[in-house]
Amino acid sequence: MPSLTPHEFRPVTTLRGVGTALAEKLAVLGLRTIQDVLFHLPYRYEDRTQTIPLGSLQTGMRAVVEGEVQLSEVTFRGRRQLLVRISDGSGWLTLRFFHFGAAQQTQLARGIKLRCFGEVRAGQKTLEMVHPEYRRITPDNPMVESNTLTPIYPATEGIQQARLRQLSTAALQELQHNSIRDWLPADLLPDPRWPTLQAALHYVHRPPPDASLELIAAGRHPAQRRLAFEELLAQQLSLRQLRQDIKNDASWSLLQGSELLKQFCNTLPFQLTSAQQRVWQEIEQDLAQSQPMLRLVQGDVGSGKTVVAALAAIKAVACGMQAALMAPTELLAEQHARNFQRWLAPLNIDVVLLTGKHTGKARTAIMESLASGKASVAIGTHALFQSDVLFTKLAVVIIDEQHRFGVHQRLLLREKGINTGRYPHQLIMTATPIPRTLAMSAYADLDVSVIDELPPGRTPVQTVVVPDSRRDEIVQRVREACLQQRQVYWVCPLIEESELLSAQAAEDLYTTLRSALPELRIELLHGRMNAKQKDLIMERFKSHEADVLVATTVIEVGVDVPNASVMVIENAERMGLAQLHQLRGRVGRGSAQSSCVLLYQYPLSDVARTRLRIMRETNDGFEIARHDLEIRGPGELLGTRQTGLVQLRVADLMRDADLLPQVQKAADFLLKDKPDHVEPLLTRWVGQSERFGKV
Ligand code: ADP
Ligand code: MG
Repeated sequence: MPSLTPHEFRPVTTLRGVGTALAEKLAVLGLRTIQDVLFHLPYRYEDRTQTIPLGSLQTGMRAVVEGEVQLSEVTFRGRRQLLVRISDGSGWLTLRFFHFGAAQQTQLARGIKLRCFGEVRAGQKTLEMVHPEYRRITPDNPMVESNTLTPIYPATEGIQQARLRQLSTAALQELQHNSIRDWLPADLLPDPRWPTLQAALHYVHRPPPDASLELIAAGRHPAQRRLAFEELLAQQLSLRQLRQDIKNDASWSLLQGSELLKQFCNTLPFQLTSAQQRVWQEIEQDLAQSQPMLRLVQGDVGSGKTVVAALAAIKAVACGMQAALMAPTELLAEQHARNFQRWLAPLNIDVVLLTGKHTGKARTAIMESLASGKASVAIGTHALFQSDVLFTKLAVVIIDEQHRFGVHQRLLLREKGINTGRYPHQLIMTATPIPRTLAMSAYADLDVSVIDELPPGRTPVQTVVVPDSRRDEIVQRVREACLQQRQVYWVCPLIEESELLSAQAAEDLYTTLRSALPELRIELLHGRMNAKQKDLIMERFKSHEADVLVATTVIEVGVDVPNASVMVIENAERMGLAQLHQLRGRVGRGSAQSSCVLLYQYPLSDVARTRLRIMRETNDGFEIARHDLEIRGPGELLGTRQTGLVQLRVADLMRDADLLPQVQKAADFLLKDKPDHVEPLLTRWVGQSERFGKV
């Protein structure tokens, strides 16, 4: 039973060998208490039970070696460094240190015996290890650590693995005298054969000599599963708590507006699909409540999410309130602004656009119109949540392409409403469809609606995969398509994350295509152009004053020009599935048969080959997301910031997906019957910085 100050909450400095200097470094890793150390879990293991003779080392090996120091010298080759040559009779190895102290230098003297571990690299004369872990071998220091698997911990600069192992050893020793509190009633665990919390911790920090490296590497050992379950539960609780916090706030109950909405729908050139209607009804019900809506709308690219967002904005305005729509790129914000202005002007609703490009007087004017309430709808990028942008009565916040934003940003925008004493409703839209179990975990704070139907009359995009060597044929196909009044996007890949290089690549392609296709009207669009230029070019393409738009991936999300029906993607082998699917989603929006050409260059990696095959075989965003999940894992698929999932230590959402239904049940139970166990679990597993509830 816990004492008043449970031992696991004592600071790390109470562990043997930890002073204030080390404690500061540990704090960078979030390790402040003994409990933090115990739950700082290895992310992999190394088998160091075999010592490799120096003569059989090869570049790239990570190996344990032993040898006697033959030579130890400080040299200046570019920078000061300590070189230590060791030998074991079978061969030589150089140890190279760039950071070293005087004591270390004296210790590594000729004649002493060392055991080292590190990665073998090719050196100038011999093989070498840079900053290996090493220990001196003395008669009274037999090397016992190496008969178990060696845990490798997440580390940071200035803290060596050996140090982290000492630390966990000390914490585990404490654990033998003072047990750690288990917050999970035994009957919540899905498998009664799982080890206790205590035993599980011992096992993952120090797997016994007979442990199966395979089982552990696969993350399937019961000790790992026991901890993974608790971790997933903590994640779930953290998101549920965030949701609860938000739901406890007051919001605006939006009841009016059916006339205006009807009027709007009558001006649309199409009828809402039944999926759009169903999702809108769900949203409308939420908006009628006096607690904030927290709803995620999932819909594949082209399913028509924008018009649903417009309905929500109109509803807010009809009730005398304001709405804000945030998009991840300027280009998309500009397009949304154009659509909204076109749609809402006939209803006498004032729409303003605010992006990073607005400065000085223009920005001040926009801000004034929002603060005075003259403008009812704001469309923008990140620029919307700068602290000096104020609304008079913000009731609805819409976030488009949510995977590009973090939870933090979403919460910041929500704070824009509080000058009224109430919080706005939140509508979040994403084209990244994810499997249900994953959604339960990743979006535990949100209600989910799915637009699972495309507008009628779309024909699936036909995708072909073509080597770069056949580029001439593609140029001819583009010519023919344009002569039949169709329009073409030709996309260059992002180059090493550099807008400048990408822009240059686009310019080169633009020049080449113009000379190859002199009879066509070709335009160029890239991220380094200013907003006006971009706007002008998009406008020209949209109104069919251009046949071909050569662009960087700035057009990836959201861009909507229904007459464009051919998409050519350069270096498609470099792009991920989600990006390819988004880009392809720019065509197939009208009734014409659309096609997508994926140009690639050799050599193709296995993963790239698989991706291209998947793109050729399916147009279904769900199917593609499923493959993407297998290839990249959920952390990357969902983005690294917007969920608490990426910081998972032992759990893996794919591998441990079977635990999720039980995790849900356990979360329900704890929140209802053991609410005082929730906070301790969050402290244990979810770092302060990831506790979204508190912005
Ligand atoms: P996304 O879900 O990818 O954001 P958009 O909102 O950009 O999709 O819509 C794609 C295209 O489909 C737009 O041109 C839009 O006007 C059109 N659209 C939306 N809803 C319908 C509908 N019910 N019937 C026909 N076209 C529609
Ligand atoms: Mg969209």
